[in-house]
Amino acid sequence: MASDALPRVVRTRAELRTALASAARPIGLVPTMGALHEGHASLIRRARAENATVLVTIFVNPRQFNDPSDFEKYPRDEATDVRLAGTAGADIVFIPTVDEAYPAGFQTTVRVGALTEPLEGAVRPGHFEGVTTIVAILLGLAGAERAYFGQKDAQQLLVVRRMAGDLGIATEIVACPILREPDGLAMSSRNVRLTPEQRAAAPVLRRALLAARAGYDAGERDGEALRTAMRNVLASEPLAEPEYVSCADTATLRELAHVDGPALLSMAVRFGPVRLIDNEPLA
Ligand code: AMP
Repeated sequence: MASDALPRVVRTRAELRTALASAARPIGLVPTMGALHEGHASLIRRARAENATVLVTIFVNPRQFNDPSDFEKYPRDEATDVRLAGTAGADIVFIPTVDEAYPAGFQTTVRVGALTEPLEGAVRPGHFEGVTTIVAILLGLAGAERAYFGQKDAQQLLVVRRMAGDLGIATEIVACPILREPDGLAMSSRNVRLTPEQRAAAPVLRRALLAARAGYDAGERDGEALRTAMRNVLASEPLAEPEYVSCADTATLRELAHVDGPALLSMAVRFGPVRLIDNEPLA
């Protein structure tokens, strides 16, 4: 499809099934919550490059919001999203209502175990059950050969990979790198909710991660020293309220006393009501 053509928008499970029945394979799925930015576009472009049909889904999933005001204030702009998705290469955009995503009588929950307990899971109760339930639905509806997820949500990516493996879902889960603003802030739909002062302060997450990364590159292997390096940089920014700072085993997401294998530096930091996350893999 020409990159400036509008994609086909479908809103019901039945319409999606019909659209996909005649779609060229392989199919690449890109699940999103809308308010699309360049980070999402990079996933869609990757899907475009690797598949014959690209399906983007836009659904602000109430089940994964532990904070009702975060759900209400989540930015929504369907017309702009559909255009951006089309420009990046989407053929089909699935935009279900809540009732279409969770039809009458819905009573299934997909819950992944220990991987969902630390980090985001510890501070956002119910979040990952919401994520894995909707992603399982979308993977089931799409029957795609590949599904694309951002490393920005590193724990989500690990949890979805685990779920797909555990449940024997044939879709390949593809990890995509984090896209950043020129000043290092990871692109996020929530960035538009920052005040100008908070926006100016927000690159402190990246600086904190890079400080720990520099320590690691210089030979530091003590987990607490790496966490302290991140905390110290965050403490230099009065508008930043850290929620957690982590140096964890990439396989289990358990905090490390000593880094002797693949590890993940990650953090969640509040700026007033807006919560930002970022991460940096080590080794
Ligand atoms: P969301 O709409 O926030 O649920 O994100 C949809 C997908 O886009 C998820 O797989 C995210 O990890 C991914 N994503 C969000 N922000 C970025 C970014 N800055 N770079 C790369 N991928 C991203």
